[in-house]
Amino acid sequence: MSANGFETIEVNALATLLAPLTLQERLSLARRRIAGRLVFTTSFGLEDQAIVDAIFTQKLAIEVVTLDTGRLFPETYDTWARTEAQYGRRIAALAPDGAALETLLADGGVTGFRHSVEARQRCCGVRKVVPLGRALEGAQGWITGLRSEQSANRIATPLAAYEPARALIKLNPLADWSRSDLEAHIMQNGIPYNVLHDRGFVSVGCAPCTRAIRLGEAERAGRWWWEDDARKECGLHNRPAQGGVGEHQYQ
Ligand code: SF4
Repeated sequence: MSANGFETIEVNALATLLAPLTLQERLSLARRRIAGRLVFTTSFGLEDQAIVDAIFTQKLAIEVVTLDTGRLFPETYDTWARTEAQYGRRIAALAPDGAALETLLADGGVTGFRHSVEARQRCCGVRKVVPLGRALEGAQGWITGLRSEQSANRIATPLAAYEPARALIKLNPLADWSRSDLEAHIMQNGIPYNVLHDRGFVSVGCAPCTRAIRLGEAERAGRWWWEDDARKECGLHNRPAQGGVGEHQYQ
């Protein structure tokens, strides 16, 4: 039995039930099967826009939250505003802790994240990982826009799995979707999207850490492009067990 009362076997059964369903049906079923708080974290990428559309149009009782790192593209803030306007809903924002941010900047400077992988992970820790921890406090489920084909690191992304480090069920309702399926879904349903996607930005994160990709490059090649692929995650989706290096280095 997991900490939130969900058996691992039940999570596996849920993943099996989700497999043949549409995105809307997957989210609806997850809402019915998981008691307690369900939190969806969006960074306004194409995946997140498809999910937020499914949540808002079905009026599902799922909290929609974003991590406002303070370093997002103007186009991302515009997507945020257009999404709220289209659906008539507010998206909750979590900001970095002010004191931690001031210390980060005092220690490494405003572009300190370029100095080393550790410095970059520290910045992601202050601006993303710690706020994410606050967003998920007490939640029974966490919905993300991860897809298997986004990168080698994400190839084994399941539709649903128990995440012991956070004591919740992590749902990835687009895990098996292709990029072309996603783009078609966005266009067919008139879902607002970040205009950076029309300029070669496939995966969009913070402005100083994201570039457009070139033909043939992997979807996340434009994120922290100066680093090795194996280390290119921000800590949101590869959090080690509690007490591990990753948890504390971000604080
Ligand atoms: Fe900092 Fe870049 Fe991570 Fe954003 S993506 S939190 S700017 S290191």
